[in-house]
Amino acid sequence: MKRISVLGSTGSIGRQALDVITHSGGEYKAVCICAGKNAKLLAQQANLYRPGLIGITDESAYRELISLLDYKPQVIAGEQSACICAQYENADIVVNGISGIAGFLPLVSAVEAGKRIAAANKESIVCAHALLEKMLPDGTRGLVQPFPNGAHIVPVDSEQSAIFQCLEPHKNVKSLILTASGGAFRDLSYEELQNVTAEQALSHPTWSMGKNITIDSATLFNKGLEIMEAAFLFGIDDIEVLIHKQSIVHSMVRFYDGSVKAQLSVPDMRGAIQYAFTYPERATCPIDDLDLTAQALTFTHPDTEKYPAITLAYEALSEGKVLPIVYNAANEVAREKFIKGECKFTDIAKIVAAAMKKANTAMQYSSVDDIIAIDNKARADALSGNR
Ligand code: NDP
Repeated sequence: MKRISVLGSTGSIGRQALDVITHSGGEYKAVCICAGKNAKLLAQQANLYRPGLIGITDESAYRELISLLDYKPQVIAGEQSACICAQYENADIVVNGISGIAGFLPLVSAVEAGKRIAAANKESIVCAHALLEKMLPDGTRGLVQPFPNGAHIVPVDSEQSAIFQCLEPHKNVKSLILTASGGAFRDLSYEELQNVTAEQALSHPTWSMGKNITIDSATLFNKGLEIMEAAFLFGIDDIEVLIHKQSIVHSMVRFYDGSVKAQLSVPDMRGAIQYAFTYPERATCPIDDLDLTAQALTFTHPDTEKYPAITLAYEALSEGKVLPIVYNAANEVAREKFIKGECKFTDIAKIVAAAMKKANTAMQYSSVDDIIAIDNKARADALSGNR
């Protein structure tokens, strides 16, 4: 039996991770769950799965959580909770299903504790990669290789999981091909994008996900983050992006001999979550079989004029240290402004571009605190709204 700590258990990834555990017939057990503030759902999950440790980062939700529990586990509250849950000694695998930059310190904690990490949170990979790479053997790149202390990051993001499943031991890779659904507005013109609302951005055509990633799918900032995530996970810089409306081909690897390998399945995150638990094995999974005759599969190049997020991501990746952190932080701020109706959809990329221009790329960083400082400055720049 594998013992699992689910960080972000009340979110889309976390709930699907618990569903995989439910369907495993006792192969996996949720020994720890952790969330931000949703005490009601966290308590319901706890009463069902009976984990020994529960974490909630919002201290004001602690009392409500305790009052709703029908047994007496260890319960911790406060900012450090997610990091403590990431290092829980009774867990073998940590699911990082926390949204946004809040997933960064828990990722570092889980790696330091030598855990297998089922890594859904892409923001943490984008921001922590240079720090984590220092823990790999000298001169090696690519965070999916096992760390000397036994830690192992196995991707859950469907695109990265697909690439992970297609790669070969000796690599021989010409490029990685990320597929993108194109999000809610893929058929609109740039002019039409000026007046779209957050409600419209939240209706994703193929995936059911949390609010932030759904909006990032519409702006293609999600794909921009994935360009960097793929480069840092696999140590490969040549990344292509193709719009693939059907979300059946989750990504591909192009080899030097002209072969292209792809991973296909119905769009259901439980497949990638479970693979991160079973790797290198496979097991039956509660997702539907793919009907290959059901629809044609199409691929087109993204319109980079309409989606500046892609060009900005390549720019951030070529710098590789400070700009990826700035790209993520400024996007989180600009996306929030858009949700609150304080800026237009098309302003999000302008705000990120302006924050990237203001960034101090000469800054050397070597610690978690340095990353937090870069993140904070980018947030302040994006909040001041200069564009
Ligand atoms: P959701 O918004 O649905 O869930 C986020 C989870 O994180 C919730 O459980 C929330 O708790 C928790 N959380 C938020 N802040 C904190 C914090 N400070 N400390 C601890 N927990 C916190 O997000 P998703 O599940 O959609 O996405 C999670 C991550 O996975 C993101 O990085 C996303 O990019 C990535 N991802 C998601 C996919 C998907 O299909 N959803 C696909 C691929 C990647 P609470 O509800 O209590 O506030």
